[in-house]
Amino acid sequence: MSRVLIIEDEPAILRGLADILRFESYDVLTAGDGETGLELLRKGEPDLVILDLMLPKMSGYEVCRRARSSGLLTPILMLTARGEEMDRVAGLDLGADDYVSKPFSLPELLARVRALLRRSQVAAEGKSAGELLAFDDVEIDFAKYEARRAGAKVEMTRKEFEVLRYLSGHPERVITREELLERIWGLENYPTTRTVDNHILSLRTKLERDPRHPRHIVTVHGVGYKWSLEEG
Ligand code: CA
Repeated sequence: MSRVLIIEDEPAILRGLADILRFESYDVLTAGDGETGLELLRKGEPDLVILDLMLPKMSGYEVCRRARSSGLLTPILMLTARGEEMDRVAGLDLGADDYVSKPFSLPELLARVRALLRRSQVAAEGKSAGELLAFDDVEIDFAKYEARRAGAKVEMTRKEFEVLRYLSGHPERVITREELLERIWGLENYPTTRTVDNHILSLRTKLERDPRHPRHIVTVHGVGYKWSLEEG
């Protein structure tokens, strides 16, 4: 069961969120001000935090900043008032992972909660699955986001590393484009399956010996992609 900490000073919103999350079988912690919230964030071991920005005693920004500067990596979903574009940007700069504008719909909020929890689970699985990948003349260090081919550095985007990590972390299993979208992109920017295809093409060009006849990042026609362990 995942534990969600809600930090929100408006009692009606706090109660509504707590009720729906408990109904959805989450373990719920609540705080009505920033100070108590930060305390619970540190000691309550939540898997996710829903954080309002305007709070008594300590603002949501400050809670976020202090949590990150003390090394806490708990995913943070910010609640912002509609039109607070600057707030949103500042919040993401301070280390929030996603945001929802008030007034929000409960299904939307629940979808964001699920997506963030999945992403942090994937990250945790990735860590335990190992940080290094080697095939052909390619070496990948996922922890450092470094790729080398025949000893020479290969420039790759963060998303390319994440796609590669997910595929290679599930060898010989068919992965659909939708699964990659959900796991790697979550809800951010609403990308399309075309985005996935472009990342796959780019990865093949950078890493496969013969990008037109890939040996490792294999297409499964009509379904998706597969990481093949077969040597070329
Ligand atoms: Ca508030």
